[in-house]
Amino acid sequence: MSEPLFDTVCFVGIGHIGSSLALALRKHGLARRLVALEAAPEHRRIAVEIGVVDEATDDPAKAVPGAGLVVIAVPVGAVESVGQAIAPHLAPGTIVTDVGSVKMAVIRDLAPSIPDGVHYVPGHPIAGTEHSGPRSGFAELFQGRWQILTPLPGTDAHAVATLTELWTRVGSMVEVMDPHHHDKVLAITSHLPHLIAYTIVGTASDLEAHLAQEVIKFSASGFRDFTRIAASDPIMWRDIFINNREAVLEVIQRFTEDLTALQRAIRWGEGEVLEKRFTETRAIRRAIIDAKQA
Ligand code: NAP
Repeated sequence: MSEPLFDTVCFVGIGHIGSSLALALRKHGLARRLVALEAAPEHRRIAVEIGVVDEATDDPAKAVPGAGLVVIAVPVGAVESVGQAIAPHLAPGTIVTDVGSVKMAVIRDLAPSIPDGVHYVPGHPIAGTEHSGPRSGFAELFQGRWQILTPLPGTDAHAVATLTELWTRVGSMVEVMDPHHHDKVLAITSHLPHLIAYTIVGTASDLEAHLAQEVIKFSASGFRDFTRIAASDPIMWRDIFINNREAVLEVIQRFTEDLTALQRAIRWGEGEVLEKRFTETRAIRRAIIDAKQA
């Protein structure tokens, strides 16, 4: 057990990511007291009952003062109202971070509310599952995963260093990135794959009744993997697509062109085109395994 980095940490939103980080801070002894500012009464009750946090409230005046670190872990679309609600209670010197899957829109919505003297460092853990809520959290979620920090120009270097230490101590590798670049990278690595999964599973469920039943009965691993991704939280993903619109539309355009090229190769029986493409993609999978991100 190491020295705590913070006396009190406040989580705004104690769902999948908030509860996982809370459990990780507890496991590694990084905070003495954990509190949650949470809108859902059921989630407040569960988070205290199963020991994710010490206290949970829906009152920012009770949750925020006294916290050295505030972690905003609500859906991206709720960040602006959350920022306005907590701002009057943030003391100078407090570090505020978020875990939103989109960075430019979150910075646009949150940064204007952050008072002078409070250090806001946007972040995004590249970790998570298709589950939501406080019961789905687990302390090892961030182990061996990347944590991206996207500090704004002029951000206090000590705040960035403190968050880097926190994420490192819960097992993550930390990378500092420009927020615009982050949104472009995540559009291809995360947002497009989710959109494809939602589309495939949606198409299957729209099939005539007898075919749709067989899709479930004979679900092969390809389709099964897509259904797991397509079971991800609808609110969270609605907000991600709406708030990373430009980057997502750009990769959908590229994807559509590439799909059309494969469609053409299938139509004209161009086996060598397909084989070349599939060989290239296999190499990417190998590279991910080598990087221990499989
Ligand atoms: P989650 O499990 O649904 O947790 C979000 C929690 O915030 C819920 O308890 C929700 O309550 C609560 N909430 C919503 N609006 C609120 C408000 N205005 N004030 C206080 N609490 C509020 O979602 P999550 O998966 O932890 O995602 C949280 C953030 O992490 C999102 O921004 C997401 O983009 C990001 N993220 C998620 C993943 C992932 O794989 N899940 C990975 C990386 C980053 P209700 O359920 O009642 O609305």
